Amino acid sequence: MTLAADPLPDTAPDHAVSRLRATRLAASAKPYVARGSGLVRCAGCRLIASHCACGSLPRVATCAGMCLIMGDIEALKPTNTGWLVADVVADTWAFGWSRTAVDPGLLALLADPQWQPYVVFPGEFVQPGRVVTGLQQASDLTPTAGASRKPLFVLLDGTWSEARKMFRKSPFLDHLPVLSLHPEVAVSSYRLRRAANAGHFCTAEVAALCLALAGEPLASHVLRAWFDVFSERYMSLRLSSPLNRESEAHLRLHALAVAGVGVTRPESQPTPAG
Ligand SMILES: [Zn+2]
Repeated sequence: MTLAADPLPDTAPDHAVSRLRATRLAASAKPYVARGSGLVRCAGCRLIASHCACGSLPRVATCAGMCLIMGDIEALKPTNTGWLVADVVADTWAFGWSRTAVDPGLLALLADPQWQPYVVFPGEFVQPGRVVTGLQQASDLTPTAGASRKPLFVLLDGTWSEARKMFRKSPFLDHLPVLSLHPEVAVSSYRLRRAANAGHFCTAEVAALCLALAGEPLASHVLRAWFDVFSERYMSLRLSSPLNRESEAHLRLHALAVAGVGVTRPESQPTPAG
């Protein structure tokens, strides 16, 4: 099978996770060595040229916002799926987490009256009075917020142990409702990292579920399809297995594009090397 490479963008996307990655890299005393770090990765999607997915990058309008609070090296990992959320949802912010300091920009965002933040976390680990399973419930819980505020989903992006630590040791989140997700299909298809287990959803999957709850099914489907296409391409690379560009996920993403979702190529791209 021939893998016809899409044109490879030479600049990183101008989104929150990409910027956080650049900041985190600049602050590193020693270089971060990712799996497969000898490979030349596309700056747009972090895959290598033969598997670059940038030509299928979807854009979709959504009223919801995503606030990613990321574990220390999370933004550096080529498997981080918060990146995929930032690819699709324009109003995405990303902040590095530290036990001892909190970014003033994060506090300002959480206090911004146009947003109603929800911390997304499993309810079984949380004091019951804070837990909501839907957005309407949450506006009942905090009536001053009103229904006019746009939902801002606060996602703790890291390993499960990091996420628990972030949740417990972030007092600035303590006053916010906790949105506990109960997806009908409780099996994650996240296989990008060895440690992932079937019950632990990755950040892009969680964000897609949040968009569905927010009444944005199209954005939810688009993010899910983008995640599935990225995952297939990543696994094809990792397992050296053929990449099927006509797979169900690829066709689904394409169908969403045909249905009116913008699929755009990055603004800056070199001429294909041929
Ligand atoms: Zn790419």
